[in-house]
Amino acid sequence: MLTNPETVWPEGVIARYLTVAGATVDLWYDSGTLRAKCGGERCRWTGYESTEVFYTDTDEVRDQKIDDALPGLQRQAQSHAEKCRALPRPAVTA
Ligand SMILES: [Zn+2]
Repeated sequence: MLTNPETVWPEGVIARYLTVAGATVDLWYDSGTLRAKCGGERCRWTGYESTEVFYTDTDEVRDQKIDDALPGLQRQAQSHAEKCRALPRPAVTA
């Protein structure tokens, strides 16, 4: 394996799925919406799930809403990861 998806997670990534081709699908939270994106080269798959978090919510309420919305997006990411055959572009080494 050229990459090490278990140890190198970008900032803010909540969950990560490994596709059958060895790419990763990352899930993260961004201003009210949970988002997912496949890292396979030229794979255009993205997913999202609204959390209905408002800026007036406390941190606890926000975290709870994220927890509630996460399983839906996890299912989308899981099913994409099971069938995506797009390879990740190998990291360029100097
Ligand atoms: Zn993909």
